[in-house]
This record gives sequence, structure tokens and C-alpha cells, in this order.
Amino acid sequence: MEEIIIKSRVVGVDISNERTTYAVVDIRGNILAEDSFATCDHTDINEFVKTLSEKIVLLVEANGGYESIRSIGVSAPSASSVSGCIENAANLPWKGVIPLAVMLREQIGLAVGLSNDAHISALGEQAFGSAHGMRNFIIVSLGVGIGSCFFSDGIEHRGNLGYAGEFGTACVADNGRVCGCGHKGCLEAYVGAKGIVMTAQELMQESDKPSLMRQLDKLSPRTIAECCDQGDELAIEVYRRTGYILGLGLANYASVVDPQAIIFTGGISHAGKWLIDPTYESFEAHVFGNLRGKVKLITSKLNDRERDVLGASALAWSVPEYSLFK
Ligand SMILES: [Zn+2]
Repeated sequence: MEEIIIKSRVVGVDISNERTTYAVVDIRGNILAEDSFATCDHTDINEFVKTLSEKIVLLVEANGGYESIRSIGVSAPSASSVSGCIENAANLPWKGVIPLAVMLREQIGLAVGLSNDAHISALGEQAFGSAHGMRNFIIVSLGVGIGSCFFSDGIEHRGNLGYAGEFGTACVADNGRVCGCGHKGCLEAYVGAKGIVMTAQELMQESDKPSLMRQLDKLSPRTIAECCDQGDELAIEVYRRTGYILGLGLANYASVVDPQAIIFTGGISHAGKWLIDPTYESFEAHVFGNLRGKVKLITSKLNDRERDVLGASALAWSVPEYSLFK
């Protein structure tokens, strides 16, 4: 009789601009083993894929063996789950369109699912985090870039090309600040990390008010939030302005989507009440009246790195099985 091997594990991979993290994850979402390496050390994509495959094989061989792995899920910036490609990622070392899912599948011999970091975060929150049990919700990742993803009736809305939820590109100010994408007035130009720093610089120029921010060596969303914690009025105003714009953008988003909750992830969400309170106030002021008071704004409780690896593992379970060695 032919022996049936039950594949009870997957590999979750999170490719971020700085680091690539990969983990063996079981069916219950336990991370059994994990390792990482610097993404930017591998400027050639072929060499990156080869290195990643070799490292994954080493990790799985030391933790239950290759035969126990069903498939691989990968999170990467600017990745499309429809095309399986990373397409023109602004901050990764590889330019153009990279067919990563196929490249990794050929190298490692297992099915590979690929999606962008915002979608993967949402999968992680739905499977193991704040969105567990929710059918209609929006995840917004607040960092250098602003990404989002929404689930409708329990299903992730991916869009025609796989780019649904590009919330950072929503226009919130006609003829406003110039954005990295070339447009003017994008949400990201105000609420992304660089945008928050720019607001702080503008405020310090506009007013003579003393501020702890003036003594900082490096302005960043984190150091500005630390000034807020010390009661610094100008720093609090930075987040008040940021929250006003974020709340306005989210009110438009929610009025279209009608979610139960909006869940914040990413580094800037750690500013906590300094950002969330003014965001909620502006959200309530701008959202469709029948939704007022009905949409929860939540900061994710999952650790960012863990969520992305777990989200990638959730994606891995959803791709059809494939093996080069059957
Ligand atoms: Zn833009």
C-alpha cells in the first residue's frame, strides 16, 4: 500500500526592505522554527531566490523534514497575488517585474503563494489576531508607506489586478503635498513616516513655541511620539493634524466599505492615543451618519514581525498543492 504522508506544516516568508524572515509554521499557527537574513545583501534576484531556498531547506530539514511541508506563503512589498510577481517595488533592491512565486517554486519544488504585505497582515489578523471572527473589516498598515486590505463577507477583496486597498494613494488634499508617486495630496504624503516628519518641520517653522522636538537629533514618528509622552504641545499637534487627515481618509473608505472595524498595524500605530484619538474624532465627524459610533478603531495586538510570518503561513494553506518530486 502506498504510504500517505500528511503535510502538516507550511513555511511563511516575510520579505521586507531590510530583512527577510522565514519560519516553519504548523496548522495551528505555532511558529516551530524561524530565522532571517538581510535582504539588501542580495542585490541580484537570482542569487536572492537561491539563498532563500537553501536557507528554507536547511531550516525545514532541521525541523521535521522537507516531506512535512505542504507549501510556502510569501509576503513582499508591491507584490500581486494575481500575477505572482513583485511589481516595481520602490524600496527593494530588485527593479521591474519579478516573477518571484514561479522562481521560488522552481527552485524549491513546492507550491508558492505570494501577496503584498498589507494583504498578508490582514490574513494574519484574521487567522490569529484582532480580526478573528470578523467578516467585514479593514486593516491599515501605518509605516513608511500606508497600505490596506479589506475583507468583505469573510473574503479578502483583491481587485482585478491584485492591488485593492492602495489606501496610501487616496487623494486627501486637492493640489496638496507632492508625494513620492508623483501625484499631489496623497494620504501617504501626510500620514506616512516622511509625511509626519514634514508636518513636524512645518509646525516648528510656523511657530516660536518651545518644543522638545527642536532638540532632537533625528525626527521620526517614534521620537515625536516620545515628545508627546512628555506633554510637548507642538508634538501633540503634529499627531493631531496627522490624525485629522487619517480620520478623514478612513471615513471615506468606511463609508464605501461599511466595516465592523478598522485595525491599525505597523510602526506608526505605536504612537497610540496621540494618533488614534484625533483620528477617531475626525473619522466620526466625516463618516456616513448611519455608521457613526458603529465602527471600531483598533490597534493590533500582534507583534508586527510575527503577524507577517503567520499571515504568510495562512496564505500558504490557501494555494493548491504542488510538488516537483511527485
Ligand atoms: Zn502618492
